Amino acid sequence: MLYCWLMHEVGIARNIIEAAAAAVPDGGTLTGVTVEIGPLSAVVADSLRFGFEIASQGTPAQNAELVIVEVPLVVRCPACGDLESPNPDLLRCPRCGGDATVVSGDETRVTAVRYDEP
Ligand SMILES: [Zn+2]
Repeated sequence: MLYCWLMHEVGIARNIIEAAAAAVPDGGTLTGVTVEIGPLSAVVADSLRFGFEIASQGTPAQNAELVIVEVPLVVRCPACGDLESPNPDLLRCPRCGGDATVVSGDETRVTAVRYDEP
């Protein structure tokens, strides 16, 4: 169980490292990467940090700093508009209780890459 859970985060970390490395110009050194994770992304920040440590060994991201920004779940209700939802388990409008759709909060994405110039 623990193994599966960890493999999940390591796989995500690999994708993050690939995306970050691709943003660094030839000869540059990757120093940091910022990632946004939402409550519906099924990514746990602490696990991702651990997965990043494992996945970055021997890659250009080995000494890079991982910054994780946890973004809130935002849902859209036809009647009330976009609202932050405190409960990721229920996709309902937090104001009127009607059906809502996800605006943001299901993503895992790289939002910033820092590197030293060649
Ligand atoms: Zn509503």
